[in-house]
Amino acid sequence: MLQLFIPLGALGVMYRQLKYTLADMDQLFHLLETPPEITDLPNAPPLKIQHGEIRFEQVDFGYTPERQILQSVSFTVPAGKKLAVVGHSGAGKSTLSRLLYRFYDVTRGRILIDGQDIRSVTQYSLRKAIGIVPQDTVLFNDSIRYNLQYGNPQATQAELERAADMAQIRQFIEALPEGWNTVVGERGLKLSGGEKQRVAIARAILKQPPILIFDEATSSLDSGTEQAIQKTLNEVAGQHTTLMIAHRLSTIVDADQILVMNQGQVVEQGTHSELIKYHGIYQQMWELQLHEKEETSSLSFDQH
Ligand code: ADP
Ligand code: MG
Repeated sequence: MLQLFIPLGALGVMYRQLKYTLADMDQLFHLLETPPEITDLPNAPPLKIQHGEIRFEQVDFGYTPERQILQSVSFTVPAGKKLAVVGHSGAGKSTLSRLLYRFYDVTRGRILIDGQDIRSVTQYSLRKAIGIVPQDTVLFNDSIRYNLQYGNPQATQAELERAADMAQIRQFIEALPEGWNTVVGERGLKLSGGEKQRVAIARAILKQPPILIFDEATSSLDSGTEQAIQKTLNEVAGQHTTLMIAHRLSTIVDADQILVMNQGQVVEQGTHSELIKYHGIYQQMWELQLHEKEETSSLSFDQH
């Protein structure tokens, strides 16, 4: 993801220096993750979550002025509902999640949460309301306990264990020689992509935010673990408003709405059964994944 505005090494050093001076680690990390142009307006109020509705209104966006990525993207996720986003690699799916988390500002249009433009509220309050399992999780050079607890610094050991259980990472942690105190990250034990994803999932479970973003959150897991964790994610999503960027279509057939992105635009939207009947991109992707399943027992279509 986009944590790399500051080289990771420097992040580690700054983090170590600041670790014991700032009580609110969320705030610190978000500070480091955010490009300097994203700032709070003077006297910005905190986001007031009422129900947790997300709304994109004619959003245009480009990472650079020369290349527009998103074009007039509009959709609403009603409070407590699950919107799945699918589309080929490079379609702009992860960009949606980065804009909602306000790593970047839109170039046109607006993003609203419960009617409040996310640019008008404090970043801290915005990010407190959102739990994100990004496509690539970066871990801090600290204990695995710390890396999980970052989602909720007040969490008890029992809560940590429960979240680790749900994310299917507890056995792995407890089998390590130093268990929960094992240092992970660039200068510690390097975890695999799938292990990092499960840490990020446990973090989101601990945080229990009103809004959840899963960006291909199970793409590095083997299909058995993926199925089990997908079930957990659906339970965790429960009554929370969820944006689920899907890696395998089979994981999102039950979504309230499915948005199909292509070249930065929303090209189809509906439920699974509506989109299958429509004979568009979604239906083609579905057919393709069914064939892949038959050939390789894998439903993957997007390794990006
Ligand atoms: P998806 O998640 O659907 O695979 P992304 O949202 O990651 O697609 O990317 C959409 C487009 O934006 C791609 O063409 C990608 O190359 C480009 N892009 C993604 N991140 C950046 C970035 N940090 N700077 C410039 N271009 C980017
Ligand atoms: Mg992506």
